Amino acid sequence: MNDAPANAPRLDAYWMPFTANRQFKKAPRLMSSAEGMHYTSFDGRKILDGSAGLWCVNAGHGRREIASAVERQLSTLDFAPSFQMGHPIVFDFAERLAAMAPGGPNAGLDRIFFTGSGSESVDTALKIALAYQRAIGQGTRTRLIGRERGYHGVGFGGVSVGGMVNNRRMFPQLPGVDHLRHTHDLEKNAFVKGVPEHGAELADDLERLVALHGAETIAAVIVEPVAGSTGVLISPKGYLERLRAICDRHGILLIFDEVISGFGRLGTPFATDYYGVIPDIVTTAKGLTNGALPMGAVFCSRKLHDGLVQGPEGAIELFHGYTYSGHPAACAAGLATMDIYDREGLLTRGAELAGHWADAIHSLRDKGPVIDIRTIGLMAGVELSPREGAVGARAYDVFVDCFEHGLLCRYTGDTIALSPPLIVEPGQIDEIVEILGVAIARAH
Ligand code: PMP
Repeated sequence: MNDAPANAPRLDAYWMPFTANRQFKKAPRLMSSAEGMHYTSFDGRKILDGSAGLWCVNAGHGRREIASAVERQLSTLDFAPSFQMGHPIVFDFAERLAAMAPGGPNAGLDRIFFTGSGSESVDTALKIALAYQRAIGQGTRTRLIGRERGYHGVGFGGVSVGGMVNNRRMFPQLPGVDHLRHTHDLEKNAFVKGVPEHGAELADDLERLVALHGAETIAAVIVEPVAGSTGVLISPKGYLERLRAICDRHGILLIFDEVISGFGRLGTPFATDYYGVIPDIVTTAKGLTNGALPMGAVFCSRKLHDGLVQGPEGAIELFHGYTYSGHPAACAAGLATMDIYDREGLLTRGAELAGHWADAIHSLRDKGPVIDIRTIGLMAGVELSPREGAVGARAYDVFVDCFEHGLLCRYTGDTIALSPPLIVEPGQIDEIVEILGVAIARAH
């Protein structure tokens, strides 16, 4: 698509996020409608959704049930102040989420703080960790630890603990932040299906940072069990257990950022369930409302919640919150989304399809420039060798080629990332692989 469609809207005023605006506006890709597994583009083409929108439309598009629930809620109660005031649906939604919290009932991650996005969930989690440490008399613990190649959104907290260089370069960082090394090892773990074997010992980086800074300065460590936005990097076997053990040894809180991995992406409700390691806080967003309305939820352990909610009666325990925390319409969308997930078994459907998914995606192994393939649940990263001097250019060409031939995927660096809605059928998985394979073969 080289020219804008004749009836395209004017493109000047909208400053697009995370987009090369001038390049995009020369050849815009616009979606007009969506249903099930497909978008319809502005020029009338049907496009298979290989990325669940932006890792969020887990139940597929055009769910009338969600739209009706939102419509009903907005006509009944459109908004009520979120501070010192409530409305029934926000309590109902929190109870619903508490009953399905990461790690199951014994994990105790069933105190829910609502936000408006993944970035807000991350900054909220970091603040809860800092506030808790202070509340239990550990106020010297102000240091936060992230991981290289982590992505935790775009708030100052999230950018600081994140390890995406481009995301950090432009802005000052929070002081006192340090990073573990990433776990992506192309030599030992290339072309592995599922959780890679090698790399558990990389968790010992946390011991190194404890030795360097002193445990009494470290509040929390945050990692994505599976990093999505930086190329589908899967924590290796034993790694998260080891991180948990080191945290326990030194009084450090562990935060899992499940903004992508939450709500069924790995074939379990949460990555916490997949790995069987229980953190102190889990951040979510995206699949929480099937992408229909902006919302995030932070699942917090009772220990942290109760530790904070025990000060003098009448004092605000956590001086933090958003106008749109627990917005009634977003709660309605979320409740309807959970109904669909439950009724259709979508939070575990990825486990049934993971074998076919992995085999299909790994069949791309011998296509020209493919240097690694990583799959887990219904998620995949297909890494291409970069063109000399132009990191990301080859993956961008593949992304555009796919779009022109009827497939939406994502690219990050030189990795093509895939995460279809969890309603995907095996035949559609084959279609994704077919279109992507041709595009990769063309991208020399
Ligand atoms: N954390 C993770 C792990 C993410 O993948 C993302 C978004 N891709 C975010 C945080 C930020 O979410 P949002 O864009 O909703 O602010």
